[in-house]
This record gives sequence, structure tokens and C-alpha cells, in this order.
Amino acid sequence: MKKKKMILAMLVSMAMFVLTIAANLIVTASKTDEDALVWATEVKKSSYDGVAIKTKAAEEELYNMAVHYPVFSIAALDEQIEQYVKTKESQFFSEMDAMSDDALVEHSASFSLTFRLISAGEGFYSIIFMVDSYTGNGSHKISKDTLMADVIAKKFVAGRELFINPDKAARALITPVQNSLPQGDHLSEDIAHSFAGDQALANIFIEENDVVFPIKSGETMDARMPIKKIKPYMKKEWRDRFAVSMTNEQLQAPDAPPKTAVEARHIHVKKVALTFDDGPNPDSTTAILSVLKKYDAKATFYVLGSRVDFFPELVERMAQEGHEIGNHSWSHKDFTKIPPSSVQKELDMTAAAVEKAAGVSPLTVRPPYGATNKNVNQILGAPPILWSVDTLDWKSHNPKSIYNIVKQNAKDGSIILMHDIHKTTADALEEIIIYLQNQGYELVTVDELY
Ligand SMILES: [Zn+2]
Repeated sequence: MKKKKMILAMLVSMAMFVLTIAANLIVTASKTDEDALVWATEVKKSSYDGVAIKTKAAEEELYNMAVHYPVFSIAALDEQIEQYVKTKESQFFSEMDAMSDDALVEHSASFSLTFRLISAGEGFYSIIFMVDSYTGNGSHKISKDTLMADVIAKKFVAGRELFINPDKAARALITPVQNSLPQGDHLSEDIAHSFAGDQALANIFIEENDVVFPIKSGETMDARMPIKKIKPYMKKEWRDRFAVSMTNEQLQAPDAPPKTAVEARHIHVKKVALTFDDGPNPDSTTAILSVLKKYDAKATFYVLGSRVDFFPELVERMAQEGHEIGNHSWSHKDFTKIPPSSVQKELDMTAAAVEKAAGVSPLTVRPPYGATNKNVNQILGAPPILWSVDTLDWKSHNPKSIYNIVKQNAKDGSIILMHDIHKTTADALEEIIIYLQNQGYELVTVDELY
């Protein structure tokens, strides 16, 4: 069985922050007026285009502070950052007020606020704030907050805004993200909070080509998944926006060293995509999903919008179990024989039904009967997904025959056509999967073939 490997990364190097702070603490605040906090403030340009760094430092008898934060020179962004910084500072002061002066004399309090800025495509930044405060009681309190700034739209983007339906995305993504963490650790419990409640996915951020799921305030480790894996759950505007940054990244890739040991080995794995059309259908689709799950195989379902409307829970299960959902029209009309406006309507209504049911958007289209032409392709906007192996399951209704066609024709990169509306197809599936996996094929979604 092959599990998708996901990368864990150490996010924060505290040492680096300490050095940064030390370098910036060049001005010592006056101690003549003990009641007034005297900041030494400076703003410096940074290597990030259009972003400056504001540094404030104060050193008093009973405490010291060092605060660094980005300045975008965009009022809507800067005001919110200032507000965030102020809130954190006041929290520190009120905790310090609770301490006795004697305790402070013995161990002075300290507060540092630093940040990392991560570019995530043109005009899009993730800002990760780290707060380290010490107000006695033995240990430093470390917390982490993230903001995503859309510099082009001049506003912050909340994590949940990236998704068609954040709650459905959270339910579907929690297991794969937990599976990406080292096993037998408390980490998978710790991350559950990011996926629960009305703030599920609120604290995620984008880092290059990954979506990062912070584990817990104060944890230095995060879980991450490639944006590609999250893409079906994202609203179209963000899919398009991050697709651009992914392309840029790929253009730069040839000279860059491989990121992980897995990529470095670069073993070629043979892949086959099983596809199921015309569903969902309660009995047969459910049986097919269960077999796929048993063998950890992924598939693509080209669903009919009219059926999605009736059986939304089946479509939600497909998404949750990591399958791809494709658009097979609303009513299975031949796209070459209806007006362009009707083709568009068939596609749009189906996409809307899938989004409502599962919180994902169909990424690819398979026109009914595979019937297409230049005009239809223009409406699709992307090449239609047809197939290379036709099992003729709709005609034979014979599990042995379906199995034999797959056995004789499947090769690396094959797209196999089946229909999840027939009981006999469901019956054939287990033998087919066992055969393909024994032959060394990984069963992937259509999107993963490319
Ligand atoms: Zn069909």
C-alpha cells in the first residue's frame, strides 16, 4: 500500500530570531521617566518588494521588549497588524502587572514579537507572528499566529475564505493530514483542533506550493500538504491564483535540488486511473467505495449532476475518501448536439451540485459518450478526459469479462472506463484491483496521472 508522503518541516529557527533581535536592539530606551514606555522605533526597507520592517525596542529596569512587524504601506493591512501587535503588548503588560515588583527585580520580564514573511505567489504573503513572553511563573509563553495578506486586493484573507465549504474540507482533510504526521505521537491529537468547530482551517497558511496546517501554538512543527491536493476544495479564484505560483515554481525547479529524499530517489511508479461514470447510485457506488477503501485505491467518479442532487452524501464520501470527482454533465446529453449555452448550463449546474454536496469542485470534465468537438472543447476550457481502456461493463454485465479486458489492456498511464451504476461492475472491482496492485500499479486519480 502506498501512502502519499507528505513533508513535515521545522518551521521556526528561534536562534535566527534571537540574532535578528540582537542586531536591532541598538537603541536603548531612556530610563529617566519610569512610567512612560519609551520606544526606539525604526522602519527599514526589506528585500521583499513593497514591504518594510518596523522595529520597536525598549529596555526598562523591570522588563525589555523587542517588536518587529511588516509594514505594507496599505492602510487596511497595516492597521490590522498594528492592532494585533497592540493586543499582544497589552496582554503582556497585564500579565506583568500581576507580578510583584520583587519577582520582577529578580527575573525581569521580557516580550518579543517577531515574524516570518513567506511569499506565496504574486502579491500574496503569509505572515507568521511568533510571540515569546516571559512574566515569571517559570517558563516562556510562546504563541504563533498567522495572517495571509493579499497585497493586490489590499486585504487579509482568512484561511476559511480559501475554501468552497471550509467545514466539509476540514472533515475530508483531517485524516490525510493526521496520516502525514509521525505515528504514535501526540501530534495527531494536537492538530485535531485546527479541524474542529466553527474556526476549522482558520489558522492555515500558504507556503510556496504547500498548505501548512499549524499543529498548536508553540509547536515548532507543522503538517503540510501540497496545494495540488487541496485544490479541489478551494474556490476557483484561489485555484487560479495559486496555479500561477505553482507554474513559476516549476519553471525555477530544474536547477533547484530535490526537496525530499522521496523525490530524490525518484523511482518511477506505474500508475493506472480507474474511472466510474454516470453515478452516483446508492447500492453499486457504495460497494465500489468500500472496495476502493479496503485496498487504499483512489479513483475518479464522473458524476451526473442530476444524480448528485439526489445522493449528495455519496459524493461527500467520495471526496472524504480521497477520490476525485469529475463533471459528466447534468443530464447526459450529447454535447455536440445541444447549443453551447446548454453545454455551459449542464456543466455549471453539475459543478454547483458537487460543490454543495462535497465542498469540492470538479477539476476535469468527461463529456457524455466521450462526444466532443472543437466548439465543445472551447467551452470546457481544458482538454476533456476520455479513456484508453473501455471495459464495456455496461454491455457485458459480466465481472469475468470486465476483469479480462482490464488484464489484457491496462498499461502504465491507462485510464480505465467503468460505470458505478452496475452491480456487476462493483462485483468485478476487487479482482481488478488485486490484479493491478500485484502488477505494481498504483491506483490514482486522473489528476494524479499527470
Ligand atoms: Zn456516461
